[in-house]
Amino acid sequence: MTEIDTLPGIEKAVSIPRDQHPISRKHIAPNALKVLYRLSEHGFAAFLVGGGVRDLLLGKQPKDFDIATDATPEDIRGLFKNARIIGRRFRIVHIRFGREIIEVTTFRAHHEARNAIPEDVSRRQIKGLDSAHSEAGMILRDNVYGDIDEDAARRDFTVNALYYTTQGFRVLDFCGGMEDLQARQIRIIGDPQERYREDPVRMLRAIRFSAKLDFEIAEDTAAPIADLAELLESISPARLFDETIKLMTCGYAERAFQLLDKSGLGNYLFAPTLEALRHGSAEAGKLVELALRNTDKRLSEDKSVTPAFLFAALLWPVLQLRLAQNHDEQQAPQQRFHQAASDVLLEQLNFTAIPKRFTIGAREIWDLQRRLEKRNRRNVFSVFNHPRFRAGYDFLLLREESGENLNGLGDWWTQFQNGDTNQKNEMVNALAKTGSRRRRRKRKKPAGKQS
Ligand code: ATP
Ligand code: MG
Repeated sequence: MTEIDTLPGIEKAVSIPRDQHPISRKHIAPNALKVLYRLSEHGFAAFLVGGGVRDLLLGKQPKDFDIATDATPEDIRGLFKNARIIGRRFRIVHIRFGREIIEVTTFRAHHEARNAIPEDVSRRQIKGLDSAHSEAGMILRDNVYGDIDEDAARRDFTVNALYYTTQGFRVLDFCGGMEDLQARQIRIIGDPQERYREDPVRMLRAIRFSAKLDFEIAEDTAAPIADLAELLESISPARLFDETIKLMTCGYAERAFQLLDKSGLGNYLFAPTLEALRHGSAEAGKLVELALRNTDKRLSEDKSVTPAFLFAALLWPVLQLRLAQNHDEQQAPQQRFHQAASDVLLEQLNFTAIPKRFTIGAREIWDLQRRLEKRNRRNVFSVFNHPRFRAGYDFLLLREESGENLNGLGDWWTQFQNGDTNQKNEMVNALAKTGSRRRRRKRKKPAGKQS
C-alpha cells in the first residue's frame, strides 16, 4: 500500500477530514470500493473523483463512479480481468461488473506539460507521451500522464475535481471545489476561453451541471460562451448526439433546454427546433415543453426514456412546419408526410448524429399518429399490436395535452386498452367501416396491377 501523503503533488491539496464532510463508504457502490482497495493493495494510489464525489457531497445518488489512479491502463488491466482499455481521445479503463461499469483513468497532466518535453527525449522515457493539438487549440489526444495536482487542473469544473480517498476517508480539494459547491456554482478550472477552445463540449457540460444541480454558472465561466458557441461546429455529430442525450436525460431536461436556448448553444444542437418554435404553432411548442417535463418526471420515477421519443418530440414542431409549407398537390397526404419526415430527420443530422434505430423509432412514433387518428375497423388491432404502440399513444396524449383538439381520441385509445376482449370488439364494431370497403375494392384488382 502506498502512503498517499507521499504522492507527488498531493501537498497542494486542502484536505477535508472525515468529520467535516458527509461521504460515507455506505454510499459508495461496493464495486467502486473493490477497485479502490485492489489498486491500493497493489501499491497504487486510487481516488474516487468527479460526479461520484460531487453528488455524494450534495447528498445525491451518483449516476456512476469514476476513479483516478497513478496506475497506467496496462497496470489496471493486469489487476482486473474484467477490465478493458477504451477510448482514443482519452485512454480510459472500463471495469465491468455485470451491468455496472467503473471508469478508471490514469492521472493526466495538463496538455501544456507537452511543451516542457524536449523533442529528443525518447518517448518511452517520459510519463507524458501523446498529446496533440489542432491549430484551433483543441486537444485531439490527451494521454499525458502526470501527478495528481495536474490531474485535478485538467478537469473541467472545480466541483468535478474533488478526490476522495479511503486512506483516512478524506476529501482532497486542489481547485477550490468545496467552496464552489457550498456557493452552488459551476466554475471552470483555469482560463475559461482556453479551456473551451481545448474542448468546446465543456460549454455543454457547464449547462448540464447547472441544470442538473441547480447551480449558477460563475460569471467568468459563463461570459465567453456566447462568443465561443460556434466552436461546437468542430465537434463530431456523434459526440454531439451523446451530449444531447446526456442533457436530455440528466433529469432536468426542461431547464437544460431553456439554458441551451438562452446561451446560444442550442443553435448548434437543434437549430431547426428552435427556429420552428419561433415560427410554428403554439401547440407544437407546448408539446416540446411537455415532452421534456414528462421525461424529467419519468426519470425521477426510475422509468426509461428513449432517444427515439425525445427526437420525435423535439422535431415535431419542425415536422408540422414542413408539412404546412408543402403545397405539392401532386403528392398524396401520406407521401407528403413521409417526405416531410425524411427531410426533417436529414436536417437534424446536420447537427447531431442519430443512430438509425432511433430515427426509425421517431418515424414510427410519427407514423403511428396518423394511424391512431385514422382508427377504423381494419386498422385498430394492427395499430394496437404495433411494437411501438405505447410510445405512439403516449405521444398522442402529449399532443392533446398541448392543446391540439383531436376529438377525444386519446380517451378512446385509453378505454380501448383498458377494455377486455369483448369491450375491445364492441368499440371496434362501433367504428365506421371505411377501411374494409377499401380493402374489398383493392382485392378486385388484378394481382399484377397492385402496387
Ligand atoms: P455525471 O457522471 O454525473 O454525468 P461527471 O462529472 O462524473 O458527471 P463524467 O462525464 O462521468 O462526468 O466525467 C468524469 C469526470 O471526468 C468529470 O467529473 C471531470 O472531472 C472529468 N471530465 C469529463 N469530461 C471532461 C472534459 N471534457 N474536460 C475535462 N474534464 C472532463
Ligand atoms: Mg461520472
